[in-house]
Amino acid sequence: MNKNAYFRNIPKVDILIEDERIKNIIKKNDRDLVIEIIRERTDELRKFITNSDSEQAIEERIANLIVDIVKSVNKITELNMKKVINGTGTILHTNLGRAIISEKIADRIKEIVTGYSNLEYDIEKGERGERYSHFEDIVCRITGAEACMAVNNNAAAVMLILSTMAKGNEVIVSRGELVEIGGSFRVPDVMIQSGSKLVEIGTTNKTHLSDYENAITEETKAFLKVHTSNYRIVGFTESVGIKELSELSKKHSLPVIEDIGSGVLIDLSKYGLAYEPTVQESIRNGADVVCFSGDKLLGGPQAGIIVGRKDLINKMKKNPLTRAMRIDKFTATALEAVFHEYLDEESAIKNIPVLSMITRDIKEIEKQAESLMTKLSGCKEKATIEIEDCLSQIGGGSLPLERIKSKCISIKPNSITTQIFENRLRNSQIPVIIRIANDKAIIDMRTIATNEIEILSQTIKNAFI
Ligand SMILES: *Cc1c(COP(=O)(O)O)cnc(C)c1O
Repeated sequence: MNKNAYFRNIPKVDILIEDERIKNIIKKNDRDLVIEIIRERTDELRKFITNSDSEQAIEERIANLIVDIVKSVNKITELNMKKVINGTGTILHTNLGRAIISEKIADRIKEIVTGYSNLEYDIEKGERGERYSHFEDIVCRITGAEACMAVNNNAAAVMLILSTMAKGNEVIVSRGELVEIGGSFRVPDVMIQSGSKLVEIGTTNKTHLSDYENAITEETKAFLKVHTSNYRIVGFTESVGIKELSELSKKHSLPVIEDIGSGVLIDLSKYGLAYEPTVQESIRNGADVVCFSGDKLLGGPQAGIIVGRKDLINKMKKNPLTRAMRIDKFTATALEAVFHEYLDEESAIKNIPVLSMITRDIKEIEKQAESLMTKLSGCKEKATIEIEDCLSQIGGGSLPLERIKSKCISIKPNSITTQIFENRLRNSQIPVIIRIANDKAIIDMRTIATNEIEILSQTIKNAFI
């Protein structure tokens, strides 16, 4: 094979930029960027020629050079983060952005961040203020805690709490609560990172109050309870509740920390879900510090919210780690607005998308399924389309055993496989993410907003073609 001839066949940059297709992308984009990409693609082509033994493959690559360049430029210059339609029925879908926030709150963020704000400014006094001040009072009112602050996520909250309260000392944790949340958040590892020493007590299934008491040493700085958000230990089990533990802790002047994972402020059992401990209850039962996620059941922005005793929270606010973990103005604005909704439970259920999706009336979900069916009525020859019963999940490691009755549209295409159909939905302009079950495409209507029905039906129709 004469590779030199191939190398000579690669057009030079000044020739390439005269091609109409390249001229077109130079018109739309930065010229230097396009030239940089032309160099990268031609260098890559040279390497390919050096390493390849197939004349056909080399010729194809050379013929495709311009198309490759155009694709590379587009890939870099187009925005990659996209709105997607969540047809999985999983409300807190970790890969799809966990909690979604309302338009009202998004508008509020826009209003605050597109101009200057009083993020850290006390307007009344005309002096420096605190970024937590915008929601601290309201959170204290709702939860009964004395003080509140927030950091970037709950993993950071746990780390900050332990580092502030127990660095270099011991923290007692039950073996039944050594949780792995995912994304490499494991309680024992976080404790190491915080500089505190984990003292494991009890067994996987049973931990008694005496286990806690017997483990106390001079070095003990706190008890930590971790809510087993994403799994349940059932059967022959025993664990110590916050109430009992706080009685013991008072006797020894030790604080109790609780990581409750999901920040539930409303008793969800009223809405037919399994009971999940609320922040208020943890405080009422005597926890000194409680932390939880902002974007799980709370339904707000990604954040780790810490509530509890004023003296302890004040120390955390002064910890240098806080500077590395502090929330920005986007988060502070969204948190304030979300907590505002909780002043009235009815308004929280209605206006916080996570809660309204969880409590959505099945009749309304069915109506929405019917409206999609009507829009798809012209597709009868293309597929078997039906409304079926299905079960939605909460997701995000919250309420792991809970399944909520829902309605879905099931689609079995006639002339393409279900896999190809799913692939086309996923790669549409607005990607639609769904499940496949029993060789049918399942679109759970619970997580689909009314204003997404039109675009969803268009995307489905296009996927048959
Ligand atoms: C989800 C969870 C975390 C981690 O929270 P992020 O906000 O995802 O960082 C920590 N602890 C528990 C118990 C959780 O459920």
